[in-house]
Amino acid sequence: MAFSLNSYPIVYRAHFSDSAWTESWIEKPHRTPAEEAAMNDADREKLSASRNFYDDLPLVNYTTQYGLGCFEGLKALPQKDGGLAIFRPDRNAARFNKSMKGLLMPGFPEDSFLKAAIGAVRKNADLGFRPAYKSEWEKDSFASADSVYIRPFSYSEGGIGVAPSKNPWVMVICTPVSAYFSAGRSKATTTDRIRATPRGTGWIKASSNYVISTLAKHEANDEGYMECVFLDAKEGKYLEEGSSCNIFVRLKSGELVTPELGDTILPGITRLSVIELAKDRGVKVSERKISIDEALDQGAECFVTGTAAGVTPIESLTHKGKTAVFNGGKVGDLSAELRDALKGIQYGTLPDTKGWMVKV
Ligand SMILES: *Cc1c(COP(=O)(O)O)cnc(C)c1O
Repeated sequence: MAFSLNSYPIVYRAHFSDSAWTESWIEKPHRTPAEEAAMNDADREKLSASRNFYDDLPLVNYTTQYGLGCFEGLKALPQKDGGLAIFRPDRNAARFNKSMKGLLMPGFPEDSFLKAAIGAVRKNADLGFRPAYKSEWEKDSFASADSVYIRPFSYSEGGIGVAPSKNPWVMVICTPVSAYFSAGRSKATTTDRIRATPRGTGWIKASSNYVISTLAKHEANDEGYMECVFLDAKEGKYLEEGSSCNIFVRLKSGELVTPELGDTILPGITRLSVIELAKDRGVKVSERKISIDEALDQGAECFVTGTAAGVTPIESLTHKGKTAVFNGGKVGDLSAELRDALKGIQYGTLPDTKGWMVKV
């Protein structure tokens, strides 16, 4: 169940009309988790798939036809001391509101977002739909750990003329997930495709941004790489992002560099958190332009960050036939330290000194 869809039954829905959001909770078909586990695979998959169908949402609309939609991704993590906690949902709430407005939709109130995300996890957990903490996860730094992935997204009203959505829905679904990138394959290559252009939507978590990412990542996978790395649109020279992750390079000098935010970089919450964790450790962190040549020549470690990816080390980076292998192909010390620090806070094995975790 790496990153596959198996929607939990309880879904949040809000609809914007007459200048106000109307909220509701939907209970999709389900049995108890134990009964579902006992079903044969085909029946269980059929039941699970049925939860992803809605009869009363418009088929032809600005989201399905023109990609005018945005989304969020955040996780609720089983805690060592029991319970579930969500990582920095206030940040996702703020970013979602900005994304909606950036696509000329009405903003979605941050407090509604928080209540929806927490409520969705809690209501499903109350029915037994939640992963339980396993101490064996601690042995491999939570590489195989389970969590609840929360996916809020916008969905437009019906319409076929090209226009922004004025009366969107906001839906929040939950699905269980485990590791995003498969272990042991962490080679990356640059792509000459362009993810985001200046004055475009790269800074918004817009569905449409994922078209180019999907193509480029698929091509990289076909060539045997786990991940692709985008360079800037203007000069094709500076690192921007991974396919759906932010990127960091630790230079031989010790400096940790990640591209500065701008209109072509998605402001990742994992990125922000890793910057803070690295600074706490006395590491010099720079948010600045870093060229592919500098990364290849001076890079000592490299990793990508995101809600799904966590901190995922990159063993090598290839660009136009030239390959830099970082740290002899082994996970670098700083990458491992930051990954472990983040996972420890998220799963409650380390104290949450920053108040990042919100209990469900
Ligand atoms: C979501 C996303 C990220 C990571 O953001 P997080 O908040 O850390 O999950 C990075 N890049 C892109 C393009 C994204 O869509």
